[in-house]
Amino acid sequence: MTTVIDGKQVAASVIEAVKSATTALEKDAGVKPGLAVVIVGDDPASHAYVGAKSRMSKECGFTSIQHTLPEETTQEELARLVETLNGDDSIHGILVQLPLPKHLDSDPIIQSIKPEKDVDGLHVVNAGKVATGDLDGGLVSCTPAGAMVFVRRTHGNDLSGLNAVVIGRSNLFGKPMSALLLAANATVTTAHSRTKDLADVCRNADILVAAVGRAEMVKADWVKPGATVIDVGINRITTAEGKSRLVGDVAFEECAKVAGVITPVPGGVGPMTIAMLMANTVIAAYRKAGRTPPKF
Ligand code: NAP
Repeated sequence: MTTVIDGKQVAASVIEAVKSATTALEKDAGVKPGLAVVIVGDDPASHAYVGAKSRMSKECGFTSIQHTLPEETTQEELARLVETLNGDDSIHGILVQLPLPKHLDSDPIIQSIKPEKDVDGLHVVNAGKVATGDLDGGLVSCTPAGAMVFVRRTHGNDLSGLNAVVIGRSNLFGKPMSALLLAANATVTTAHSRTKDLADVCRNADILVAAVGRAEMVKADWVKPGATVIDVGINRITTAEGKSRLVGDVAFEECAKVAGVITPVPGGVGPMTIAMLMANTVIAAYRKAGRTPPKF
């Protein structure tokens, strides 16, 4: 029997743990976690994401601040806002929603966020900590952190002896995911567009993670029987009936017949990203208060 992971349910359990940790921190240290979300411009998808993040942070009991800036905001104005938030002691997490409008350069903005407030885990200091296996010192990028929750709940904390293949080497997902699996003792292969015989490489995986952005690329005969398959891809396709539908990078129906554990799209990794953003904010608040944060 294949287990289909219910990402919404796992995310809800992370959110419950975040709420308890928030209540405990307020009680013990008088500190309420604060998350500031910054959005520039009118992109409807970005507004939907930011709205969901702000709503969830209120639900978690955080101080939730949203800065909605007009499309014509300059690089200097945005940089000044980040500087102000960096200096605000009531704010433990700063998230600048990407992508920014084309006239703005996102990298200097992201790198100007104090690493200890970089709850998206995109600052080079946090990326470097993940790359060097220092997982308790920094903040881990939210989507790979969420995918690792699935891996840990399936295989435990120690992946010794297991082969993991990550398809994709982006800074946002592929590289940190590979580093997290390696830190958990998996033997990790990071595959990408130049990998030869990708299907063969994937067939070796006890844990197969796909983060490519190509609809249903991973087929059933790429999957080792009984493997754990985690699908990070989000692709919108038009069906034969002319309807629009979201699918992952994994051909779900056929791969579910071979895999031992598999995540659906939507409803798999997706809901974990916001949950781990909340987890990172509470972790940042614990550290600022000099307390040891809980593990999620
Ligand atoms: P990305 O920056 O575009 O990276 C895609 C990776 O896939 C690259 O490393 C690329 O290789 C590799 N690739 C492309 N074509 C390939 C092929 N034919 N065979 C093997 N590898 C191939 O994308 P990303 O930001 O990592 O995101 C990947 C997917 O995950 C997207 O669908 C995105 O929407 C989704 N995503 C979802 C969440 C979420 O659920 N919240 C979060 C982040 C991303 P090269 O490096 O050689 O070009």
